[in-house]
Amino acid sequence: MEKETQSVLKKHNLSVTQVRVRILEIFLNANGALSHSEIEKAGGTTFDRVTVYRTLQVFEEKGVIHAIPTADNSVRYALCKETCTEQHHHDNHVHFVCNICGKTVCLDNISIPSVKLPEGFLPGQVQMIVNGTCDVCQSLPASSKRRLSEASSSKK
Ligand SMILES: [Zn+2]
Ligand SMILES: [Zn+2]
Ligand SMILES: [Zn+2]
Repeated sequence: MEKETQSVLKKHNLSVTQVRVRILEIFLNANGALSHSEIEKAGGTTFDRVTVYRTLQVFEEKGVIHAIPTADNSVRYALCKETCTEQHHHDNHVHFVCNICGKTVCLDNISIPSVKLPEGFLPGQVQMIVNGTCDVCQSLPASSKRRLSEASSSKK
């Protein structure tokens, strides 16, 4: 882990600091995208909000992580693939948000289909989020899924 975090930071021309290494570790250990507060929680009492916020900003600028907007207006972050560099993100994949456990995952192999805009419109960033039931929750007994059956039945 130690080596991996250092090589990621070097690749993106970032100096190795304790905070960056720790936050990167949290991402590498995470199963899916993380919210600001989850990162803070995982970091324990080591860093304050501002430090976490600033580190995430730098990571996003340098192509280490990408932001995923979610329905409740909070932002989650996920690690980028190797191809992302400073100012050049290539994260045109679909994101999946589980209605049951709230997990947000990158579907790296599913690209966002191109959208044909009316003349005169210039596309910027395109985001695509699919809500539903993730693979883990899908295998849960029906009783634990019931509370959200209303939400999912309206989508089928
Ligand atoms: Zn990226
Ligand atoms: Zn789930
Ligand atoms: Zn993603």
